[in-house]
Amino acid sequence: MTQSDSFDVLVIGGGPGGTPAAFALAMAGKKVLLAEAGKGLGGTCLFEGCIPSKIYRETAARRHEAARNPGFGLETDGQPPEVNWRKVIARRDKLLQMRSQGALMRAKAMPTLEVVFGRARLDGPRKAVIETAQGAREITFGKAILATGSAPNHLPIPGADLPGVLDSNSLIHIDHIPRSLTLIGGGPIGVEMAQIFSMLGAKTTILEAAPRILGPVDARLAALLTDQLRQDGIDVRTGVRVQGIRRENGGLVTSIEENGDAVEIASDTVAIAAGRHPAVDGLGLETTAVQHDRHGVKTNAFLETDEPGIYATGDLAGAPMFAHWATAQAKAVAMHILGRSAPYPRPEHNTAVIFSWPELGMAGLTEEAARERGMDVAVAEYDYKIDARAQISHDGLGRLRLVYRTDDKVVVGVHALIEGAAELMGEAALIVKNGLTLPQLAMAIHPHPTLTEAFGLAAAQALAGKETG
Ligand code: FAD
Repeated sequence: MTQSDSFDVLVIGGGPGGTPAAFALAMAGKKVLLAEAGKGLGGTCLFEGCIPSKIYRETAARRHEAARNPGFGLETDGQPPEVNWRKVIARRDKLLQMRSQGALMRAKAMPTLEVVFGRARLDGPRKAVIETAQGAREITFGKAILATGSAPNHLPIPGADLPGVLDSNSLIHIDHIPRSLTLIGGGPIGVEMAQIFSMLGAKTTILEAAPRILGPVDARLAALLTDQLRQDGIDVRTGVRVQGIRRENGGLVTSIEENGDAVEIASDTVAIAAGRHPAVDGLGLETTAVQHDRHGVKTNAFLETDEPGIYATGDLAGAPMFAHWATAQAKAVAMHILGRSAPYPRPEHNTAVIFSWPELGMAGLTEEAARERGMDVAVAEYDYKIDARAQISHDGLGRLRLVYRTDDKVVVGVHALIEGAAELMGEAALIVKNGLTLPQLAMAIHPHPTLTEAFGLAAAQALAGKETG
């Protein structure tokens, strides 16, 4: 083994849970090897998740907007624009390539960072083997960060492996817009993808086993969004059990049990979006003390596994599975390895956006989660119906919900359903992370006319005793 085969830190996985840690450690002078099994840096987020789905969503939402055109004074023939899927894919590939190349160029500018494209596996607590195109390479390391992400869950039902039955990864790579699409799973990925393809013209069905879609999301906003999805023509069926999928007349038939009845749903494409599991296969965890279960690799408060010096971040470490959460963890672990004290990300400060139409954003705790933690909370609710900005955009549906502690008026959760909610979550993140109070929100000068005014108005309304929660 040569000198260059020994590293301070090995990072396995070039997604949001790995790359930021590798960069932070290399910038601090550590000798780092970043191993990535794919062709570029970016992970699921860049190649199969956040970015391609939002590129599709951009086209879909613009088409949807053009179709609804509610009296903006734009004369159209009332038909939504035709979608040229080839051009959408070309735009996607260009953007993905640009972002991945950008990350690689930043990596190349760091003298103590080596990026190796190949599949890595641990071979004991301080050794790893990377299978590259040039052959196997053995390395030793002082510390390791495992960030191999997650993979879509397989559904143990007949027909799940039929051609045309996709998972969230293969749905992202679809080369056409299906005429009809059945989405199994009403979580964030299922809802986003169902609505994207519905807005692109597919007849879409969502099948969800739980009594409602978007389980952990603010219940009132999830109910409002469900109504909107149905109004927009998506067939949302909750409390159903999927029994199997079969091929018939060139299409697919999904059999479900709904309220005790057997129901069949025909579509040309079926996609399974029934959660994701940690990507541990072939990682060599059995050669170490690292423990895992179906929810993720087990870690302590510092994201260190049962093998001292080996850490796990991102989807591999379990829920919540979001890119920004993975990145926050990656940075925290890097600081920990560098011996710099930095706060670890806390779930009660996390943010998330479901890129439905309208968008649904959340930061901090839901009302239900706060009560489960024993907090005495109330909710300040603002209806965007009266909002200038929402009226100008003609976004009829919208709510902001501020969950706050009744004694000290600290806001512990912000939930918004409105087109534009994604961008509201920046302010929401600052509110919950810094424990801001209703009076502080009410006193902030928000620009007019913007959706952010709702923060101050909802807070002032609650302080004036008009509490709705
Ligand atoms: P990943 O991004 O999966 O990266 C893991 C990397 O490890 C991969 O590049 C993989 O090739 C590599 N790897 C695996 N095994 C090995 C090995 N043995 N050796 C070397 N390399 C290996 N999150 C958001 O925050 N916002 C969104 O809008 C959003 N939209 C999504 C939409 C979809 C359809 C999906 C599927 C996910 C979405 N997510 C979104 C979730 C987000 O993509 C993940 O939470 C995030 O990518 C997790 O980052 P990670 O680094 O843990 O894993």
